[in-house]
Amino acid sequence: MLPVIALVGRPNVGKSTLFNYLTRTREALVADYPGLTRDRQYGRIKHGDMACLVVDTGGIADDAEGIDSFSRKQVQVALEEADVVFFLVDAREGLSASDEVIAGSLRKLGKPVVLVVNKIDGIDANTVAADFHALALGDPVYIAAAHGRGVPDLLGGIRHLL
Ligand code: GDP
Ligand code: MG
Repeated sequence: MLPVIALVGRPNVGKSTLFNYLTRTREALVADYPGLTRDRQYGRIKHGDMACLVVDTGGIADDAEGIDSFSRKQVQVALEEADVVFFLVDAREGLSASDEVIAGSLRKLGKPVVLVVNKIDGIDANTVAADFHALALGDPVYIAAAHGRGVPDLLGGIRHLL
């Protein structure tokens, strides 16, 4: 079984966009992988000599909002099987109450969590850094999933964890 990265965060922060960027080759999509269920979407990542799986959460019932969607069973299961968690937040919207609740759960998870500030395109990271540091999840990694900016650094920063 390959190491697993779980993508979590409230709706609309860009989890599926990042998933699609990471798994943009057809071969990367994992329809049937031994030991995995069909309730969550999995893909394979190859980055240099690093191979792992990524799981998108929240794609099944996107009508669910914020904390409700975070506490849904599939998110909990994804967190259980994860070796590393990417917690996505939105640079454009700034910090939200849901982000703070999710951060509270993730701090208690006992697994490596990377705070990923997405949609940094056109935004000065310095103007949002202090807000996101307040989540007490360490230094954020800034990305634009839509263009892939920052994604190599994001993956490079976790290779020692997998
Ligand atoms: P999810 O609900 O967390 O899976 O979020 P989605 O991946 O569906 O993205 C929500 C919206 O954010 C979509 O309209 C995306 O096009 C947009 N989005 C995602 N990543 C970026 C980004 O890097 N920059 C900008 N400007 N928009 C983005
Ligand atoms: Mg999604």
